[in-house]
Amino acid sequence: SRREGFATVPDTTWRDVGALAGVRDELQMAIVEPIKNPQRYRAVGISAPTGVLLWGPPGCGKTLLAKAVAAESKANFISVKGPELLNKYVGESERALRQVFMRARSSVPCVIFFDELDALVPKRSSELHEASARVVNTLLTELDGLSTREGIYLIAATNRPEMIDDAMLRPGRLETLLYVQLPEPQERVEILRAQILQRGGIMNEDLANVAARDECTNFSGADLESLLRKAGQNALRRGANKVEEIDVLTAATNIKPSVGNIKHYEK
Ligand code: ATP
Repeated sequence: SRREGFATVPDTTWRDVGALAGVRDELQMAIVEPIKNPQRYRAVGISAPTGVLLWGPPGCGKTLLAKAVAAESKANFISVKGPELLNKYVGESERALRQVFMRARSSVPCVIFFDELDALVPKRSSELHEASARVVNTLLTELDGLSTREGIYLIAATNRPEMIDDAMLRPGRLETLLYVQLPEPQERVEILRAQILQRGGIMNEDLANVAARDECTNFSGADLESLLRKAGQNALRRGANKVEEIDVLTAATNIKPSVGNIKHYEK
């Protein structure tokens, strides 16, 4: 059940997410707790859900975090990739967008995840197609409607927050901006350890220490995942049936960090 745009409850948990403790805490407060204990939030005058924009370089866990939020809140999860919603036929993109919110309303509590939001709601400018402006307006209308409808939470992700229409970032809309950064050396170890543990005891978790080494400089979470895959292949190539440190190290020297222009993503 991995159909785009349809509601499912993911099986990802906080344990699957390595590092990013600050971002996890913020998401816990902004979404997980309000879904689990709505009365506590109402008591202090918070009734409207807040939208969250996760931004930062690719492959650093934005999608993973969104899934974990839904699973930890036992909420349904609807995932939509910005570009996939765009349709060249007049009115079709808006219709698809409204349908996403309709599906969410029929499966509350629900987390809607808009990946690549910049494609869906680029800054409205004079040279922008009228069509794109209509999509932006439709999303704004749906978002503003959420304040009175409890149980629908929005998480969006982008690599390029500067491309997003400013109106999306006003209070009551995507008002919480969380930076999901490229991991520091020790955070890479935490991420690799989470990925090893996720594999259920078939690998020694001490192998994660390799991630702190210079060979892994600037690796993202996605790069670390490919590190484990390549390490497994290296073990097989050696005729071994178990991954050893040498397999991980060899893999590391053969992987080029996927985030090229790091300066571009500095906060
Ligand atoms: P994009 O901007 O390209 O959509 P993203 O930030 O959404 O990227 P994810 O799809 O969440 O990145 O992560 C890519 C892969 O890397 C996933 O398979 C995920 O499991 C792994 N990964 C990334 N960050 C982490 C992390 N902090 N802990 C564990 N795994 C991670």
